Amino acid sequence: MHSAASVICSLGHVATTAELRRRGVSPGALRDALAGGAVARAVRGVYVCAHADPDQRTATAAFGRISCLSALRRAGVWTGLDRSLHLQLPPHARGDRPAADRNGRPIHYHWAVPRFPDSRRSWLVSPMEAVWQAIRCLDEENAIACLESAVHERLLTVDEVRRVCGRAPARLQRGIRELEFTAGSGMETIVRRRLRHAGYTVVAQVQVTGVGDEDLLVEDCVALETDGEKWHGPDRFHFDRNRDLKTEGLGRRALRLTHDQVMYDWETTFLSITRVVDDAKREQTRRFGRVILHADDPL
Ligand SMILES: [Zn+2]
Ligand SMILES: [Zn+2]
Repeated sequence: MHSAASVICSLGHVATTAELRRRGVSPGALRDALAGGAVARAVRGVYVCAHADPDQRTATAAFGRISCLSALRRAGVWTGLDRSLHLQLPPHARGDRPAADRNGRPIHYHWAVPRFPDSRRSWLVSPMEAVWQAIRCLDEENAIACLESAVHERLLTVDEVRRVCGRAPARLQRGIRELEFTAGSGMETIVRRRLRHAGYTVVAQVQVTGVGDEDLLVEDCVALETDGEKWHGPDRFHFDRNRDLKTEGLGRRALRLTHDQVMYDWETTFLSITRVVDDAKREQTRRFGRVILHADDPL
């Protein structure tokens, strides 16, 4: 028989009495685990092991589930700049609730009957529910990036995203028509859409011989890489420089954008991209012009 602590661990470090019973943990075994300190009672009928994190403890204390943007962040899905804790509670569970957690982080409550209730965790909403809530909490740009990111991070399939989109608010419909599931990160979605809306031709994930996939190719002459937060370290540094060199060797300009340049300083970043694209286009026209002149030159 498994110990109470190991069963709680297998359920993500939080479990209800009913879940423990279903997995064969007897009341006596639970009492022993509580006495030994391996397990603690969070609230009535809910137990945590030592690995439960602050968000899980706050959610449990509120008799809620981690939901929306907070659930997606745990899965590495794009959630914009929001860092508050989003919890789902049953619609009738009103009453006084703290506005912030112990660390002063704001708590955003969703009182709702789940639209996609098939969660496998008592403390966490289902992936489709989380995305459904998140696209309501986010502005249009971040909501679209979140939908593409949910597929890229393998939280949802394209079909599941389509089902969630079927219930999306009207303000997102235009963005939903522009979904393309090519992006390697939420930031890439955002840059691709901003540049297209500014009138540029942008192709995502272009296969280039000797270089691999390029994030975004602008006007067929500038390769844009959006450095995700995940990519760090000396190996990556060397890999990126190698790639930039090969791109430039193919006659394209290579630009690499950081999270802060995109999210906090877009105005300056956009001006620089515009300048580099315009210069690269002029250069391309000049070269192309020479070829035409040479080909047509009968003299
Ligand atoms: Zn655990
Ligand atoms: Zn929310």
